[in-house]
Amino acid sequence: MISEFDIIRRYFTRPSPGTVLGVGDDAALIKPSMGMELAVSTDMLVSGQHFLAASDPRKLGYKSLAVNLSDMAAMGAKPRWVTLSLALPEPMVRTDEKWVEAFADGFLGLAHAHQVDLIGGDTTRGPLNICVTIIGEVAKGKALRRSGARPGDDIWVSGRLGDAALALAHERQRIVLEPGEIDACLPALHTPVARVELGQRLIGLAGGAIDISDGLLADLGHILKASNVAAVIKMNEISCSAPMKKYLPQMLAIECLLAGGDDYELCFTAPESRRGKIETLSREQGIALTRIGEINEGEGLIVLDAAGKTVTLETKGYDHFGI
Ligand code: ADP
Ligand code: MG
Repeated sequence: MISEFDIIRRYFTRPSPGTVLGVGDDAALIKPSMGMELAVSTDMLVSGQHFLAASDPRKLGYKSLAVNLSDMAAMGAKPRWVTLSLALPEPMVRTDEKWVEAFADGFLGLAHAHQVDLIGGDTTRGPLNICVTIIGEVAKGKALRRSGARPGDDIWVSGRLGDAALALAHERQRIVLEPGEIDACLPALHTPVARVELGQRLIGLAGGAIDISDGLLADLGHILKASNVAAVIKMNEISCSAPMKKYLPQMLAIECLLAGGDDYELCFTAPESRRGKIETLSREQGIALTRIGEINEGEGLIVLDAAGKTVTLETKGYDHFGI
């Protein structure tokens, strides 16, 4: 049977050109660039909770890193280094080394594309669990924070929302999508694109910012709490795919759009005076940036439908300890 050290050497040791000392010692050594602060974030993916054990390992590897890149994007940080801690069930290593190979391939392929070095981690036997810590750099004092929203700010969202949740609802047989619709929505669920460059370009433009991982309402709610402000958003202003539009009259689709999560788009606020610059940025990046509402004084989040009526949901977003 392959040893822990063989796995690390064979699959997780790669050149790390942006690092002083990478995989192989008791600790890695990294050196931040002049004038930069380090941004550090961790995400744990648990089998059965965040993904199914039968998931495609290459896509799982990709997504494990993508969700962490998204946290860097939300801070406006440039991702530089990452660690990967894996608990692997014995059969997965013993009989199916291909699983580890494909997982590493998905993970390292995305890391390479973003010039992020894998600099360490931990590998043990156990129920499948993936824990990634990412470290990025951001100019001193410039990081985008949740607390930066001010009354009068526009609320913006990148890309389209709800497709990942719609695809998941299909996989869980809560809704039946047509084949073409599944093809349109599934990539959002399994291979989300983190808005890494967009996040960095939002420095100096955005006030408050967050990435949408638990659903728009929950995550915008975090901005509101951290900034001590209120907001009104218009549901029909939110950009969404053709399948999402088709199912939108249904409550399930409304929930996917507003509270589904796994979107990994950015939600940010900015004063009205920056609309022109943000629209230019949208064109330059080739990413839709849509104004969906505004920040007000006070507290609470109101969602209006096309007729101007308040939309009420039973669920506000993903909460692991919610009931
Ligand atoms: P230690 O016993 O000091 O914890 P390990 O034997 O666990 O060291 O790890 C040896 C080296 O391999 C360390 O540099 C560690 O960071 C790295 N490493 C372990 N697992 C992984 C992994 N899954 N991906 C990348 N590096 C890893
Ligand atoms: Mg160890």
